[in-house]
Amino acid sequence: MYRAPLRDLRFVLDELLETPALAQLPDFSDYSSEVGESILGEAAKFAEGVLDPLNKKGDTQGARWTPEGVVSAPGFREAYRQCAEGGWTQLGSDPEYGGQSAPQAVATAVQEIWASANLAFKLCPMLTHAAVHALELSGSPEQKRKFLPKLINGEWTGTMVLTEPQAGSDLAQIRSRAVPEGDHYRLFGQKIFITWGDHDSTSNIIHMVLARVEGAPSGVRGISLFIVPKVLVNDDGSLGERNEVRCVSIEHKLGIHASPTCVMAYGDRHGAVAYLVGEANRGLEYMFVMMNAARLSVGLEGYAMGERAFQHASEYARTRVQGKPPVAQPDGPASIIHHPDIKRMLLTMKSTVEACRAVALYAAYQLDIANHHPDEQTRAAAQARADLLIPIVKGWCTETGNQLTGIGVQVHGGMGFVEETGAAQYVRDVRITTIYEGTTGIQSNDLIGRKIARDGGAVMSQLLSEMTRELQELDVSNSATKLTRQAALEAVGSLKDSTASLLQALSSRPDAAMAVSVPYLMLCGYVIGGWLTARASAIAAANLQGADKAFYDAKIHTARFYAQQVLPNAIALARVVQGGAESVIDTDAALI
Ligand SMILES: Cc1cc2nc3c(=O)[nH]c(=O)nc-3n(C[C@H](O)[C@H](O)[C@H](O)COP(=O)(O)OP(=O)(O)OC[C@H]3O[C@@H](n4cnc5c(N)ncnc54)[C@H](O)[C@@H]3O)c2cc1C
Repeated sequence: MYRAPLRDLRFVLDELLETPALAQLPDFSDYSSEVGESILGEAAKFAEGVLDPLNKKGDTQGARWTPEGVVSAPGFREAYRQCAEGGWTQLGSDPEYGGQSAPQAVATAVQEIWASANLAFKLCPMLTHAAVHALELSGSPEQKRKFLPKLINGEWTGTMVLTEPQAGSDLAQIRSRAVPEGDHYRLFGQKIFITWGDHDSTSNIIHMVLARVEGAPSGVRGISLFIVPKVLVNDDGSLGERNEVRCVSIEHKLGIHASPTCVMAYGDRHGAVAYLVGEANRGLEYMFVMMNAARLSVGLEGYAMGERAFQHASEYARTRVQGKPPVAQPDGPASIIHHPDIKRMLLTMKSTVEACRAVALYAAYQLDIANHHPDEQTRAAAQARADLLIPIVKGWCTETGNQLTGIGVQVHGGMGFVEETGAAQYVRDVRITTIYEGTTGIQSNDLIGRKIARDGGAVMSQLLSEMTRELQELDVSNSATKLTRQAALEAVGSLKDSTASLLQALSSRPDAAMAVSVPYLMLCGYVIGGWLTARASAIAAANLQGADKAFYDAKIHTARFYAQQVLPNAIALARVVQGGAESVIDTDAALI
């Protein structure tokens, strides 16, 4: 049974990031800690009461393909209706079209709760939101008027349609084509792996499709973005004829069984009616603007599954009695949670989830400043920092999410491997998160290429200086915080040296930089997580005398564990980044 970690989320939002200060921005003048608390509280009720009970059923029964269309997994249709009626699809969208303005940091925390409760479900509103975001940024006034209100109020859902059999990571290979016809286009092509590409939960689905206008240049500069509704929409907003959009089949896959992953055919005969978004050939650019939010959202899925696996494993460890822990327990037979190795595993899960959450919400907070601060320079600096952080959140939080769900199984022993316990589902469900929305390899290319090499490491260097300064100024009168701070400072130093080494490689042997780009990305995650963990420890230490002593005490212990047993990963990764490339680049592919 999942319980939303409300106190932890509020700690990060209110105390670690001080998001209530966002109320000083004109767009968030109504926001306060109480508003945030109320949104999260309601999100928790929906997650615990509606989404969580469907999680296992969705896994075992899944979505079903029929010739008439995809049938949602049992209970999911009703859950989506409740999600829309509860106003959840409106959160973070433009109020002009019925949205509800809320800081991205809070919306991100809500998404974590959805993802933990039911990852397969969460993908549907997430992709709708991505489609809304793309339209808000690049749609014409007419397109916004026609499509946004019903996507935002949840009457319809949206999809992001990029992948083709020969065009996965490499979107330059896209072949779907669009032929102009009056005020619209006719689109032809087959797309694969389209999440919630078809279902019966809403009356219409608005597909945001990448394709080439006939005669467009090859490569990424010839790709355009189109709106392709499943059912055509009349000028008055009512539904018209069915468009030439068909789900050919759905994939049988490792996890997220309730999320239909569709092979889609557009334009079997005359071509699907499609509307160009913005200018032709700028589709990928439009898509990339909204991809930051989507990548952040997939990144949080990694640690959200880690959180769920942690809750499950710690509950099991408190009840399972096996062996005699080395330190006698006063209350009769001791459960396995008293074995040092089980404590180690649970603390690994807890501390890593908390570090990931801090980094992800910090990135979301930067987006809030970037999008809403009145000062242009402050906006630009926050955008640059968010741009740097997002591939790290996407790559690091999902890679660690995979490790943590595996540890969750280990805590259960043999019962973890048995499906009925539930721990195995998390391993299967989280597996996709390092793959879709750009694999970890693609995130690391983005990090070292666009975010580090392009500005000579300037944005990273600013972050490194800020982390060092803050850590040096931290109140370390608490001895555990002092230890945590020391480990964080050492780790920041190793990231600084590794960044210098990476920049050197980027200027002389880019293949050597690419050979260590994923270790570099992981290093960034552990270190930035270490910085925020040390900050959390200092805040907790300052609050130890209050009523919430047990909560803050746990924060300090968890932070100390992160410093002693998780953060040393950074030292090992720094060694790989600074000296591990040759073993890759000198090895011919034929030798592998
Ligand atoms: C369940 C599921 C849901 C999905 N949902 C959607 C969706 O809604 N919409 C959509 O459009 N797509 C969706 N996808 C597609 C997904 O985004 C792609 O699978 C992903 O981008 C990887 O592409 P690929 O599968 O073709 O792998 P490939 O691109 O073939 O990659 C194979 C391996 O090569 C590596 N690689 C490739 N290129 C490079 C490079 N330049 N440098 C270093 N390494 C590289 C990759 O990291 C990976 O390890 C979904 C996929 C799945 C499985």
